[in-house]
Amino acid sequence: MKNDELFQRARKLIPGGVNSPVRAFGAVGGTPRFFARAAGAHLWDVDGKRYVDYVGSWGPMVAGHGHPAVVAAVQAAAANALSYGAPTQAEVELAETLCRLVPSLESVRLVSSGTEATMTAIRLARGFTGRSTIVKFEGCYHGHADALLVKAGSGALTFGNPSSAGVPAEVVAHTAVLSYNDIPGMKKFFSQNGKSVAAVIVEPVAGNMNLVLPAPGFLEALREECTRHGALLILDEVMTGFRVALGGAQARFGIRPDLTTLGKVIGGGLPVGALGGRRDIMDKLAPLGPVYQAGTLSGNPVAVAAGMATLKLVEQPDFQEKIESTTRLLVEGLAAAAKKAGVVFSAQAIGSMFGLYFRASVPGNFAEVMQCDKERFNRFFHAMLERGVYLAPSAYEAGFVSAAHGSAEIEATLAAARGAFAG
Ligand SMILES: *Cc1c(COP(=O)(O)O)cnc(C)c1O
Repeated sequence: MKNDELFQRARKLIPGGVNSPVRAFGAVGGTPRFFARAAGAHLWDVDGKRYVDYVGSWGPMVAGHGHPAVVAAVQAAAANALSYGAPTQAEVELAETLCRLVPSLESVRLVSSGTEATMTAIRLARGFTGRSTIVKFEGCYHGHADALLVKAGSGALTFGNPSSAGVPAEVVAHTAVLSYNDIPGMKKFFSQNGKSVAAVIVEPVAGNMNLVLPAPGFLEALREECTRHGALLILDEVMTGFRVALGGAQARFGIRPDLTTLGKVIGGGLPVGALGGRRDIMDKLAPLGPVYQAGTLSGNPVAVAAGMATLKLVEQPDFQEKIESTTRLLVEGLAAAAKKAGVVFSAQAIGSMFGLYFRASVPGNFAEVMQCDKERFNRFFHAMLERGVYLAPSAYEAGFVSAAHGSAEIEATLAAARGAFAG
């Protein structure tokens, strides 16, 4: 098979044969699929097999693959210029769109990845407050910058390296890790250390330790403690932005962060990230202020065109409602199929993100996610893959539905799941 042959070749020259660790199927075993083409809700591997896609490039493809409006925008932009390294009108329009749609954004800086966005947000928070401590939560992933790679989720979790080699202890000495949804624990930390905290960074819906929803009051309590102690609240909406609601999780839960990080959907499949928020804080960034940040390809015209075209689709009336109801149908159908097969399973969705758990009830923090039956997930994953359904190759990732997923795809997925749960 061409797929196996490619993986052999890849492994000779690329560490693990992949350019991002979770792609390697290390957690689930087997050979990663090499893809040749995608359209709408479907992927085709190099051997011609078709799959219903629930990864969506790990979030960005909310409008579905190869949407004609996005492809046309990219082609037009590319024909015009690939890069200037100088300002363009399209960047201004994307900044205006982001500030209009995301409630707390007064000013925004474009970068090229979510990692850059969070790394810069941390530096900015420290520069603005003159403090050092950063608070994060166990199982939340904020990209692979050194200071944030402590008890992180996603691939770092999948591979059992909550921290990474190559990160000196001194570098993470100012990073405190608390338990997600633990309000008393967080308040206690603030009462003892509040004066040293520059910022709390949190996924407002955690999507890198499978899917974990914020407990009622958790985000509100974070907002209160940050305000009380002069710390900044950073909502990392790289994943939740334009997925949990049009205005992000902050709109859905009514939380106003000081800074927000964005990525994934805002590039529509090309590399775009952003950080934004209060103008008095953002004005501390170079060239206005003393906090340095830069990027050769930041605001790249082709990437910005893909993002703008995607956001235009995402803001159409009913886009969010439709995709949310499709996602709900999916998780309800899966839960019903599991119940019928007598499999211990639970599932939930918010917006177009979903979580599947081989556990009797949905988890509320990292420790509960770890109680899921990972072996059972791996068998389910391979059974689904064989039946033409592409789920994230790890029990610790959220799933994603696109606007191109309709009742036909959901039906096909549920039929596959009935077989997979029986196996
Ligand atoms: C994906 C992700 C990042 C990192 O984004 P990259 O573009 O992969 O660097 C940061 N934060 C969250 C919440 C993410 O899901």
